[in-house]
Amino acid sequence: MPAGRPAEALLAELRELRAGDAPTRGGRTFAYVYDAGLPAADELAAAAYGVFATVNGLDPTVFPSVARLENDVVGAVNSVLGAPGAQGSFTSGGTESILLAVKTARDHALNVRGVTRPQLVLPSTAHAAFHKAAHYLGLETVVVPVDPVTFRADAAAVADALTDRSVLVVASAPSYAHGVMDPVSEIAAAAAARDVLCHVDACIGGWFLPFLSRTGRTVEPFGLSVPGVTSVSVDLHKYGYADKGASVVLYRDAELRRHQYFAHADWPGYPVVNPTVQGTKPGGLLAQAWAVLHHLGHDGYTELARQVARAADLVLAGLRATDGVRVLGEPAGSLVAFTVTGADGTGDLGRTLQVADEMRERGWYLQPQLSHDGLPANLHLTLTPATGGQVEALLADLAESVAAARASEPVTVDPALAELAATLDPDALTPEEVAGVLAFAGLGGGQGLPSRTAPVLVLLDALPSRLKERLLTEYIGTLFRV
Ligand SMILES: *Cc1c(COP(=O)(O)O)cnc(C)c1O
Repeated sequence: MPAGRPAEALLAELRELRAGDAPTRGGRTFAYVYDAGLPAADELAAAAYGVFATVNGLDPTVFPSVARLENDVVGAVNSVLGAPGAQGSFTSGGTESILLAVKTARDHALNVRGVTRPQLVLPSTAHAAFHKAAHYLGLETVVVPVDPVTFRADAAAVADALTDRSVLVVASAPSYAHGVMDPVSEIAAAAAARDVLCHVDACIGGWFLPFLSRTGRTVEPFGLSVPGVTSVSVDLHKYGYADKGASVVLYRDAELRRHQYFAHADWPGYPVVNPTVQGTKPGGLLAQAWAVLHHLGHDGYTELARQVARAADLVLAGLRATDGVRVLGEPAGSLVAFTVTGADGTGDLGRTLQVADEMRERGWYLQPQLSHDGLPANLHLTLTPATGGQVEALLADLAESVAAARASEPVTVDPALAELAATLDPDALTPEEVAGVLAFAGLGGGQGLPSRTAPVLVLLDALPSRLKERLLTEYIGTLFRV
């Protein structure tokens, strides 16, 4: 433990560290960050956090302000996506909201239907957080392939996958990977017909699409008002433009939400009732989300949705006009995924991933996504209001990057190497073997990513998922070493 240091020096060090990161403001980072382009909203969030920084949301009887703010935030979300009688919780993010919705469904099905070996039915494009929830909570996942052309969930196939053990069915509004809407009402109806709960993952679309609809665009309904939908998750730290650590999960009624709560009185300490995963709960995150929500309001969010939609129109038109680029599916409005095609018009994995490297060298971060079960690897863009001022520069650099990638040596994996790697048993690999494979892939030595990631990603893309998971776990582990 080091000696104490002056505040100014520490803040200076923090600022210096940030200089090595992708920029979180300015519209050049197309994943992870949501920039409303409103410095006043950022300042408000920081100040509101400060007012509540020392408050513990663990006990609303001691800090009644927490219940007031949470009811206000959940009430606002309910007024847009809920239904009469709906209840919910403020959580730390989409993953926690999803974890809780899955836990609620598991416990509800055990309690009401006596299901002891629960299954979670989900389209292959459902967010990885559902797999995490199933893993943490002991559910079996039943993954249903999506339509390979539209990337939308196949409602009939989802209906066919339902069994007496199904406790929850998932639909995305929209999916993260391709930004397309699932057929929510059909999936929810199929679930209801079997008396199974249905969660709509609106983590990314839930605070954008309703306001997009207010601008006059057509948006398929997806909230609790859709018959059969029993829970919804919405991240306020995405298109709510709150700082990270802000999401809401809503249920059709308090009786369903009851299964989310954990209570324990059988110990010598204080009687515990935890509505969500956390015990001690940061009051500041709730306060900043509350402040940003009320600052922007209906009209503010509608104007921001209009800006995102305008940027999306321009980006989509530009991408569709760029030689060698193929946009995947019909994006619902704020997320875009595209591949770079080879001369024969089919997606070219190496070239697509090379474009991400080319763009990074030009100061843009586009998110690479690997292939899955016949769905192509692609580059993903999350558009925000700050994208608006960058569209021309983005498209110009993208055209250059695509041309550069298509003109350069293709990045491929030696098939013999991929075959050899595929024979490795991910669960039996020794630390030395893992280190050897990582070093070979260019991920050794606890360094960040190599400057050119395409060769690494093309190799990873060729490996079985389980092996990818083991290698990436070890790699990230090397970044967190003391
Ligand atoms: C972001 C996201 C999640 C996960 O949320 P986190 O806030 O990253 O934990 C889940 N589903 C969708 C569709 C998302 O976009």
